[in-house]
Amino acid sequence: TTAPTHPIRSLIMGSPGAGKGTQTKRITANFGFVTVSSGDLLRKNIADGTPIGKEVDSLIAKGELVPDQTVVRLVVDELGRLAGKDWMLDGFPRTLGQAQVLDKVLEEKGMPLDLVINLDVPEEVILQRIMDRWIHAPSGRTYNLSYNPPKVAGLDDVTGEPLTKRPDDNVDTFKTRLDKYHAETMPLRQYYESRGILKNFFGKTSDEIYPLIDEELREVRGKLATHGRNAY
Ligand code: ATP
Ligand code: MG
Repeated sequence: TTAPTHPIRSLIMGSPGAGKGTQTKRITANFGFVTVSSGDLLRKNIADGTPIGKEVDSLIAKGELVPDQTVVRLVVDELGRLAGKDWMLDGFPRTLGQAQVLDKVLEEKGMPLDLVINLDVPEEVILQRIMDRWIHAPSGRTYNLSYNPPKVAGLDDVTGEPLTKRPDDNVDTFKTRLDKYHAETMPLRQYYESRGILKNFFGKTSDEIYPLIDEELREVRGKLATHGRNAY
């Protein structure tokens, strides 16, 4: 018998600097997932000087969260291009309010979540990673001076353009980001855990964690292909 199958609908969460963007990029490359990153969408709006960009610029630079309704509007606008594809959201939702809106919208679209990936990285290592992080702002490409340095110091591998620091990647702002994470985002783990769709991945580096995610996605894909969504 051929059970109904469907693509993998997932999201990735974790503390600031946990490597959400890095993992999402690898998953995109290896599995062809479509991804939506709230952080990238917000930074693009800032770079383009849009009204939303102007509204959120200083909040992000201070490490505060952007208001739910602003980020919800940005992300929900992108959900249309996910239909029929394997997809992963990166950095959204970050509050219970965002998660509830997301569930409602996904329910309406008939594509509820299958899997929530939680990156569990020790706090001792993430500040150092954020201090080591440099980006190519126009593309969002990320480098880490210890794990993933650019081929030429200070320059983007693809364009040769100069790398910069994100304005929120510094010690003081990091404290605020971590506080927000503990207060607003950590409760989401419980929210998804109680639905049976949360998977935790522990490790100190993205290289250590990626193979575990890769294995999980193969397993989920196999289950969905064999049994349809009820099995998962
Ligand atoms: P990582 O290093 O794991 O990729 P990150 O914590 O560095 O992740 P982003 O997801 O890029 O960060 O988010 C950067 C900033 O953008 C946040 O500190 C916050 O100000 C804002 N932001 C991003 N997503 C949201 C969201 N869903 N709700 C509210 N604010 C958000
Ligand atoms: Mg990110």
